[in-house]
Amino acid sequence: MTKKGKASDALLKFIYPRRCACCNELINYEDLVCKECDASIRFVPENRCLKCGQEKKECECHRLNYIFSGIVAPFYNQDSSKKCVYGYKFNKRLYVAEFLTKYICRDIENYFDNVKFDCVCQVPMTALDSRKRDFDHSAYLAKSVAANLGLKFDSKLLKKVSDNKPQHKMNFSERPLNVKGVFAANKKAEGKMILLIDDIKTTGATLNECTKQLLLAGAKDVYCAAALIGRNRGL
Ligand SMILES: [Zn+2]
Ligand SMILES: [Zn+2]
Repeated sequence: MTKKGKASDALLKFIYPRRCACCNELINYEDLVCKECDASIRFVPENRCLKCGQEKKECECHRLNYIFSGIVAPFYNQDSSKKCVYGYKFNKRLYVAEFLTKYICRDIENYFDNVKFDCVCQVPMTALDSRKRDFDHSAYLAKSVAANLGLKFDSKLLKKVSDNKPQHKMNFSERPLNVKGVFAANKKAEGKMILLIDDIKTTGATLNECTKQLLLAGAKDVYCAAALIGRNRGL
């Protein structure tokens, strides 16, 4: 790097200091999270059921008929990793996407290395939701994952065509019905091997409904990835 390059690099680091992706504290520029948060991040163990994304001994495939071909999520929806995604989603901490992308892509490369994806898309929000929040967190994350994997990102493959009650206010059995008919897929999905991204997999009902629409539109197959997965301990 030239002298001028080094000086502008130092200036950029001064203007935009690195913050911990979980607690937002200032950290070294080389790191993505602080030491305390790093120690309390809950990774999903490696011995996983790829159909539901849980550790094998906590497999929850019996709870819902998953129609996507597989799902990975690097973190449990707990402690530091939960703080991280909630800060990203509700406080628009865009730098957090880099941290989430790193681990989502690591899982995709580890578990879906034999799948040749044609494109990446996100679980969509309605235009109104997106305007209200001033940020489409799933689209931003999906775009970042696609760029990291060298894949095409298509934000318009799925569309949310009507509003529903927030899934987190529904119990497990109500969730599939609450998302029924609220998404539609574009015909461009036809013949494609699709990687569908969301921030959190709780029951998987939303991802399942989006998968259904993509398959109805002629998608060849759908795999999913999320940042967090709810821990149900096989219940
Ligand atoms: Zn931290
Ligand atoms: Zn399972």
